Amino acid sequence: ALQEPPRSAAAEKQLWQWSEQITPVENVHDYTQAIKDLGAMVCIPRKPLCDNCPISELCQARKLGLEQQLPLKQVAKPIPTRHEVVLLIDHRGRYLVRRRLAEGFLGGMWEFPMLSFQEDEDPESRLRLLFSDFGLRGNAEPIGSSQHVYSHFRLKSAIYYKKIEDLLRVSEGDDDWFSLDKLKKIALHGAHKKVLVELQKSGV
Ligand code: SF4
Repeated sequence: ALQEPPRSAAAEKQLWQWSEQITPVENVHDYTQAIKDLGAMVCIPRKPLCDNCPISELCQARKLGLEQQLPLKQVAKPIPTRHEVVLLIDHRGRYLVRRRLAEGFLGGMWEFPMLSFQEDEDPESRLRLLFSDFGLRGNAEPIGSSQHVYSHFRLKSAIYYKKIEDLLRVSEGDDDWFSLDKLKKIALHGAHKKVLVELQKSGV
């Protein structure tokens, strides 16, 4: 009896091995049809109908008393969590955003200025680096946090807001200033769409 989650690599290997051993040389079509019918109508994954099963005498799962436990469920692997600090720089209602490099993860999408940090790091130390990159002074206001799950990691964003009076000099092309209305229309990536929602909820 297969005691691995059916979609695991080990199960696939084992199933192919058994299949090669058991599949008859003659009447293959009848055999495969019978197996499919058995799986569809009798040996169903939850609550198999063992009392009506034509092969219950041969069933290894039943012999082992595992017919109600099998097939095993695939246990989802936990995904890692990454952290970033996001700085929302507001110049008269327009916010600085940057376009990511065309190649790679989320290529070509827009995002707010951000820096990653380790779980045991203080996000404010990364915030100070962002301040230094833009030549900003003073403090930023923490306005909340958001979370977005990608297929292979979870991203937690610590969000800070900074209002400025003098327009910053930013490189042309990859950086731009957009109003809230425009931000809702451009291709912000998923995590920063949630940052935008937090910005609007904050009422700053
Ligand atoms: S006896 Fe075995 S093959 Fe038949 S329904 Fe039960 S678990 Fe499936």
